[in-house]
Amino acid sequence: IWDRIITELQNTLAPQVIENWLSMLSPMDYDNNVIVLSAPNDIVKKFIDERYMTIIVDACKNTLNKSDVSFEIKVVEKAAPEPEEPVENLFNDNDGKASFVAAYDTPGQIAPGDASSLNPRYIFDTFVAGSFNRIAYAAAQAVAKNPGKNYNPLFMYGGVGLGKTHLMHAIGHEVLKNNPEKRVLYITSEKFTNELINSIRDNTTEAFRQKYRNIDLLMVDDIQFLSKKERTQEEFFHTFNALHQANKQIVLSSDRPPHEIKTLEERLSSRFAGGMLTDIQPPDLETRIAILKKKTEAEHIDVPNEALVYIASRIDNNIRELEGALTRVVAYSELIGEKITTDLVADTLKDVYPENHNKEITMDVIQEVVATHFNLKVEDLNSSKRTKALAYPRQIAMYLCRELTNSSLPQIGEFFGGRDHTTVLHAHTKISEEKGENIKLDNTLQELTKRIERL
Ligand code: ADP
Ligand code: MG
Repeated sequence: IWDRIITELQNTLAPQVIENWLSMLSPMDYDNNVIVLSAPNDIVKKFIDERYMTIIVDACKNTLNKSDVSFEIKVVEKAAPEPEEPVENLFNDNDGKASFVAAYDTPGQIAPGDASSLNPRYIFDTFVAGSFNRIAYAAAQAVAKNPGKNYNPLFMYGGVGLGKTHLMHAIGHEVLKNNPEKRVLYITSEKFTNELINSIRDNTTEAFRQKYRNIDLLMVDDIQFLSKKERTQEEFFHTFNALHQANKQIVLSSDRPPHEIKTLEERLSSRFAGGMLTDIQPPDLETRIAILKKKTEAEHIDVPNEALVYIASRIDNNIRELEGALTRVVAYSELIGEKITTDLVADTLKDVYPENHNKEITMDVIQEVVATHFNLKVEDLNSSKRTKALAYPRQIAMYLCRELTNSSLPQIGEFFGGRDHTTVLHAHTKISEEKGENIKLDNTLQELTKRIERL
């Protein structure tokens, strides 16, 4: 398996990374969806854990075509092997997904108020809402406030790493906070399948049914991985109906809408589509920066805004990767004992997210860079306020949009809060003329252009 994973990794990682680092690992064990590898020392383990774990786990998942594979590196020194780590660090997930698996293996009944299926980090407070997830966020909050009343089932779908799992756990926490007597269960559809298969094997299907039909809030994650076996779908159908009829809340997630899940029987997808369907799109640049900011603030990490803009512009469709990149940057800066700067960020990310020099420059990137430089918010640039402190940076941003993108004057005006094209033309003329006489402005423009072009 490890060889196949390495082959898969060759698509994403630079050859020298595989040669220098990954080659130091050797496979030890594969059991219960946990892949165990040995590393010769702590430094190798730490480095790979922090820099490449997310990518390796993704590759494992792709290779094995499973969603809940996790991955562990053990340090095995030749003379004296380290004592094994206790397995209970389930929530200590560096990469956000690898180790949060199988939080409860006991098929026992769910006790009222039991939050053990929930990750304590995934709460509403740590969740950033933006236009990309606004509806899913609002629906999740409504469901958490009044489970079983509004949207039942709530079905959230969208690409990986966009916050579906986070929202589900947040719903669970909120429900338990408001009503500690509720029985709440978060489970992956694979886990559900396994439990069912075990209960059939052990002749305990009655206990299985009891358990699932006594739940007030059932959340099943990644429903696209529900086994296509007739028996599983049948059982899930009955569980669903029993809960739904009793006005118990059901929350489901998937990477695509119900009717596009090929493995799902029609009667199930119809049921799923019968409630509230919401999709989550990838976040825009501004939200990506906000997410990074929130995380650095929560963890008291000092990262200059410009470096955050750099990370956020490089990783645009997966919040988990976004966080992973930040973690890598922090780890790297600690490892080499240097402060985090844009250069350090560029250096850290270069083998994972290669710079794409042909990437088209977009106006949102220009706005972010100019706003960051002048210590403003993007919304200031787009606001109708015309104080000098805002007007000048705004003119510079418009000038750069005209120079660096193919956007027309009306398009630029529209992008800057719906301004007239003559305003853009005026800004462009003014800055063009001034830069010939004002060396400081000329330097600023060059510096900003350099920053924009490297993003
Ligand atoms: P999905 O289930 O859609 O694949 P997750 O819920 O696992 O995605 O999210 C991946 C990571 O990104 C998690 O660590 C999560 O906390 C974080 N994350 C996702 N969306 C947000 C958000 N809107 N605000 C803050 N963090 C987020
Ligand atoms: Mg998920």
